[in-house]
Amino acid sequence: MADQLRFDDQVVVVTGAGGGLGKAYATFFASRGASVVVNDLGGSFKGEGTSSKTADVVVEEIKAAGGKAVANYDSVEDGDKIIETAMKTYGRVDVLLNNAGILRDISFKNMKDQDWDLVMKVHVKGSYKCAKAAWPIFRKQKYGRVINTASAAGLFGSFGQCNYSAAKLAMVGFTETLAKEGAKYNIHANVIAPIAASRMTETVMPPDVLASLKPDWVVPLVAVLVHKNSTENGSIFEVGGGHMAKLRWERSSGLLLKADDSYTPSAVIKQWNKVVDFSKPEYPSGPADFVSLLQESMKMGP
Ligand code: NAD
Repeated sequence: MADQLRFDDQVVVVTGAGGGLGKAYATFFASRGASVVVNDLGGSFKGEGTSSKTADVVVEEIKAAGGKAVANYDSVEDGDKIIETAMKTYGRVDVLLNNAGILRDISFKNMKDQDWDLVMKVHVKGSYKCAKAAWPIFRKQKYGRVINTASAAGLFGSFGQCNYSAAKLAMVGFTETLAKEGAKYNIHANVIAPIAASRMTETVMPPDVLASLKPDWVVPLVAVLVHKNSTENGSIFEVGGGHMAKLRWERSSGLLLKADDSYTPSAVIKQWNKVVDFSKPEYPSGPADFVSLLQESMKMGP
């Protein structure tokens, strides 16, 4: 097909590619000409145990379909080893899909340090380690595409997922900074909040909803974002079941008080309606926006 997005001669690293969304990415990119590193530690969805079989099965499937793939069984916490597999096998890396993840759901009241630490290690440290190892390669070749994986739980909070929510929102800040630092090297980073039927969601969603959420239906957006022609950088998307949309921060038009002795809690309360008024929203894109607001404040004079 003339309009088919292709990834020939590109190397795509997919973490957590043994099942769910990762497997869908790996098989797709291999079917479009990429050489794929299929990373998976092969543990349970709670992050317990390991098995090389999980990644091997996907590699075999890709090879049987005529594609190119290599397995890697390291934890994303050792992201340098995953990137090393790509470099040793294929000599380059073009796309990094930070997808591996676990859940340790429990109410905040009952959460143990281990539940917090493990989720942070896999999602936050794991994404950092993989990107950190790929970064010098991307910079040198003046090309790279990164997708980090957030979640609606991170964007909006979710009962029983305090650790996961914190880790997933971390992916947003991480991505937005990578996007700013990578832009001049043609390195683009975007973050998705997917929703898909997988072992992670099969116990929390009813079967009819799950049936409409095939992992394959997250893939097309990701393919567009990591394609060489994409100019999207530092953006947040929600995606699942055929729906996709871009998200952004919104700021109320706000209240600007002169920063002198008249700026008291009572003065804030008096005009609270302005602080929370979203009728004329603004869409800030960085710390510079706030600085320009402060400059306005200074102009107010005595
Ligand atoms: P999944 O459990 O099917 O896949 C996650 C994979 O990551 C598993 O194969 C697992 O073995 C692997 N993994 C776990 N820890 C690892 C580690 N330390 N190193 C390497 N691999 C490891 O789940 P999924 O639903 O496909 O989730 C994929 C990503 O999408 C995760 O980051 C998840 O948090 C995120 N997500 C999923 C949904 C959803 O609706 N499925 C919603 C929001 C976010």
